[in-house]
Amino acid sequence: MDDRFEYRNDREAYSAARVRALEALLIKKGIITDKTVDTVLEFFQTKMGPFNGAKIVARAWLDPTFKARLVADTPKAIAELALPAGMAGAEGEHMRAAANEPGVHNLIICTLCSCYPWPVLGLPPYWYKDPTFRSRAAREPRAVLKEFGLDIPQSIEVKVWDSSAQIRWFVVPERPAGTEGLSEAQLEALVTPESMMGVAIAKAA
Ligand code: FE
Repeated sequence: MDDRFEYRNDREAYSAARVRALEALLIKKGIITDKTVDTVLEFFQTKMGPFNGAKIVARAWLDPTFKARLVADTPKAIAELALPAGMAGAEGEHMRAAANEPGVHNLIICTLCSCYPWPVLGLPPYWYKDPTFRSRAAREPRAVLKEFGLDIPQSIEVKVWDSSAQIRWFVVPERPAGTEGLSEAQLEALVTPESMMGVAIAKAA
């Protein structure tokens, strides 16, 4: 492994301590209040998150014409749905959907840093920002997916989409077999953030 990618094993606790120290300093200097971070966190727990992506995917499963519009012009199609205001705002600019289909599996990454469509997926998990994940997913996506428990047969093409500030990708997973009788809400419950990143597929409950 490249030396540049070495990091301490307690990096999550280390990062959390740094964040707490930074927050305390910003509060002390009067730049933010003791409510600011909680307000932002609450926004991404209740308004902007993978529950929006799940609604979009479930609608695409139920309505092929919506799915086609979603792939053709993602922001315009998302605007058709009754989702919270701000879907095209912070980290939601220029979103694009890549739809899985028989013979094609899509994976999203950001090789440069951690660009991610926050309004539909929420905040990125720490491993999405990991330099080793980013570089290996670009170089050997099948091997990385296998480590996530997803063994993609050679007959299926793996497409890797590199997000940036110009385009933020998310995946529309395929509708699982055996879900014909489910309601839209029941379908939404099958759509995980991982399935919209392409490191998993959607599965029937
Ligand atoms: Fe990035």
